[in-house]
Amino acid sequence: MRPYAVFGNPIAHSKSPLLHNAVFRRYEKELGFKGEYRALLLEKPGMLKQRFLELGLYGANITTPFKEEAFALSDKVEGLAQEIKAVNTWVLREGQIVGYNTDIEGFLAPLEGLDISRALILGAGGSARAVLCALKSRGIEVVVCNRSGEKLAYFQAQNVPSFLSQDCPLDAYDLIINTTTAGLQEPNLPCDKNKLTALFQQANYAYDLIYHNTPFLSLARECRLKTFDGKAMLIAQAVLSFAQFAPHLNSSLVQATMQEVLN
Ligand code: NDP
Repeated sequence: MRPYAVFGNPIAHSKSPLLHNAVFRRYEKELGFKGEYRALLLEKPGMLKQRFLELGLYGANITTPFKEEAFALSDKVEGLAQEIKAVNTWVLREGQIVGYNTDIEGFLAPLEGLDISRALILGAGGSARAVLCALKSRGIEVVVCNRSGEKLAYFQAQNVPSFLSQDCPLDAYDLIINTTTAGLQEPNLPCDKNKLTALFQQANYAYDLIYHNTPFLSLARECRLKTFDGKAMLIAQAVLSFAQFAPHLNSSLVQATMQEVLN
C-alpha cells in the first residue's frame, strides 16, 4: 500500500481524499499498486516535512495555510510554483521532495478557449497569487482589489494595479474572479453590492474559487454573466496532482472518475 495525504488546517472539509481514492481504487490494476490517500490536520507550522517523511508518503497535497512552507521545504521546485513561491503538490522522487503548484493550471482549465484580455481579482491571499500567475502566463492584464491593504503589497511589488475594494476602479473587465473567502460560510459578497453590480454589468465572465454556489455567483447570473465555480478548478488541480503521483495513468480516465464522484 502506497500512502498519500493532503495536509492543511482546517482539513475536514477537503474533497481531495474522495477524488484521489476513487482513482486509486478503480485503476489499481492499471496503476500496478494500491494507493491510499488521507486528510491530515497539521496543528501548527513547522511539522509538514517531518510528518511527510515519518508517514513514508509517496506524495501529498498541501493546502491553506501551508503552501508557502511547502515551497520553502521542497528539495526541488518545478514550474510556475517557483514564481509564486507556493507549492500544493509534493512527490517523492529518488529520495527528494519535488514541489509543484497545480492550482495555477487548474484555475485556467475552465477558461480554455475564452476571449479574455482584462481581469479583476477580488482578494489578495494565497489563491489570488496563483490566479495572478495563471492570468499573466496567458498575457491577460490584471487589476487586484482587496478589502484591506496589507496583502496588496505583494501585488504592488509586481507593478500590478492594486486597490482597496472601496476604491476599485469601475472599468470594464472581461472576467471577475472572487478569490476571497466571502460566501464560503456566510452568505456575503466580497465587496459592496452596488459596486459589484456595476462591475458585472460591464463584464462577460465571473469565476468563484469556492466549490459551491455563492452570493457572488448568484449576483453574476442576475447580471447575465457566464459563471464558473471552484469545482472545475478543484478537479483540474487534482488531476494534475495525480499525474505527478502516477504519470502513466491516462489523465482523461482520472478526470472522468473524479468528475463522477464529485457529482
Ligand atoms: P487566504 O486566507 O490566503 O485569503 C483570503 C482572502 O479573502 C483575503 O484577501 C481576505 O482579505 C479576503 N476576505 C476574507 N473574508 C472576506 C470578506 N468577508 N469580505 C471580503 N474579503 C474577505 O485564502 P486563500 O486565498 O488560500 O483561499 C481563498 C478561497 O479560495 C477559499 O475559499 C478557498 O477554499 C478557495 N480555493 C479554492 C481552490 C479550488 O481548487 N477551487 C484552490 C484554492 C483556494 P483580507 O486581506 O482583508 O483579510
